[in-house]
Amino acid sequence: MATTPVITDEILAKYEPVIGLEVHVQLLTASKIFCSCSTRFGDPPNSNVCPVCLGMPGALPVLNRKAVEFATLAAMALGCRVNETSIFARKNYFYPDLPKGYQISQYDKPLAEFGAIEIPAGNGTKKIGITRLHLEEDAGKSLHDGFPDAADKTAIDLNRTGVPLAEIVSEPDIRSPDEAYEYLTRLKEIILYTGVSDCNMEEGSLRCDANISVRPRGQKEFGTKTEVKNVNSFRFIQLALEHEIERHIGVIEAGGKITQETRLYNANEGRTYGMRSKEHAHDYRYFPEPDLLPLVVNEAWQDQIRAGLPELPEARRERMRKEYGITAGDAQTLTRSRAMADQFESAAQAAKNPKRVANLVQSELLGRLKAKGLELEQSPVSMAGVASSADLVESGEISGKMLKDLYDLSFERNKDFPAVYDEEGRPKQSRDTSALEKLADEVITANPKQVEQYRAGKKTMLGFFVGQVMKASKGQGNPQLVNEVVTKKLEGGNS
Ligand code: ADP
Ligand code: MG
Ligand code: ZN
Repeated sequence: MATTPVITDEILAKYEPVIGLEVHVQLLTASKIFCSCSTRFGDPPNSNVCPVCLGMPGALPVLNRKAVEFATLAAMALGCRVNETSIFARKNYFYPDLPKGYQISQYDKPLAEFGAIEIPAGNGTKKIGITRLHLEEDAGKSLHDGFPDAADKTAIDLNRTGVPLAEIVSEPDIRSPDEAYEYLTRLKEIILYTGVSDCNMEEGSLRCDANISVRPRGQKEFGTKTEVKNVNSFRFIQLALEHEIERHIGVIEAGGKITQETRLYNANEGRTYGMRSKEHAHDYRYFPEPDLLPLVVNEAWQDQIRAGLPELPEARRERMRKEYGITAGDAQTLTRSRAMADQFESAAQAAKNPKRVANLVQSELLGRLKAKGLELEQSPVSMAGVASSADLVESGEISGKMLKDLYDLSFERNKDFPAVYDEEGRPKQSRDTSALEKLADEVITANPKQVEQYRAGKKTMLGFFVGQVMKASKGQGNPQLVNEVVTKKLEGGNS
């Protein structure tokens, strides 16, 4: 083997990566795709099994209607064309976690084709094509660890066997690990919005295999690809791809050839290892599944499924920007999950100033949640609480400083905003005009230059004076009242 040459940025720049992703998404049906066994995660091993999913001879599969509807909904959300007729096929291979000796999948007639996901690219967006979305059953799980009596023992849990999956295959349109990351982020977001999967990577509800090749820039033909399997986070997929790109280029620069193979990524070492090469590649001997009829999702059924399509993240952001006068960045943050967007919208509609609600979510809520490692669902301050706090600031009943303190107390006491606000006794703020007038006089006397500027027409100086008086009142002044008092003083002195 040739020694690996040093890959400089210059050498890297000579090559263009080509990436295509295969994503498996577990559909949230209560029962498996071809039998009535439960799909529940974490049950005792081999407790959710029956002759069908154990592959007993003579047992016949019966297709789960809900799995078809979920996969079709996902396909529609990804802009795919749904094929009225699709065919289940047997994919034959031997593996201990596959009791039947074949997986029921779809091959040359998949459920849906020709979709796309838009990802941000440069100043605009770029479409990544989706070749196909098909239905298939999951295999079981081999467990290699946790056997104190025998370190090299492997056990099989067949609870997962027959759990419905949608496989989503992208076109080789992705050109960098960053684009791969974006594609996966968008894909997950869209699937989550449809509600057909929880996309929980730790529990294996979303799995991704990454295909990667490189070619000299300007060359039309693709290079030889390798496939990186079983990477369990989007960050690691990005890192695995970065590593693979450098490895490919290293091999080619040294005069070698990339072997088409499946590789595994080791996150601890930050590198990939060959798993099986093309010589050992499977010949799956696909053929139509004789125990199942062609799947027909006719127009009427498609219409019915389409009616359940939610407003998708991109469209929702666009609408929210217009409806609430928020920025693209605000909309991006507030639609991070469908639940957050739903909660924000119902709170914002009730609030006096939706933009202020959006600001407070970002400035006061999310940072505190992150610091405490809490999810939105665990937040002591609800979105309705944020809206009520926004209204209090809006009407001038509390100052920004008081608001911050109250949020701190909410998080300390694990109580929602209105409750803490009540506990702390409502307006502690000074409505004592004479005290505020005294403070205003002091501030005006102490800042003659600014007074001159204000009186010369620089009305924006008002903010400076209000700020100084608020500060002098230690945040206890009612901002609206302070504003009135200061304006009166400044204008009054002019006559
Ligand atoms: P296979 O038959 O080896 O599974 P497919 O043609 O089904 O290959 O493609 C699998 C995935 O690999 C798809 O996402 C596709 O976009 C991607 N792909 C195909 N050819 C290449 C290539 N040369 N480089 C990178 N990705 C590729
Ligand atoms: Mg493949
Ligand atoms: Zn079963």
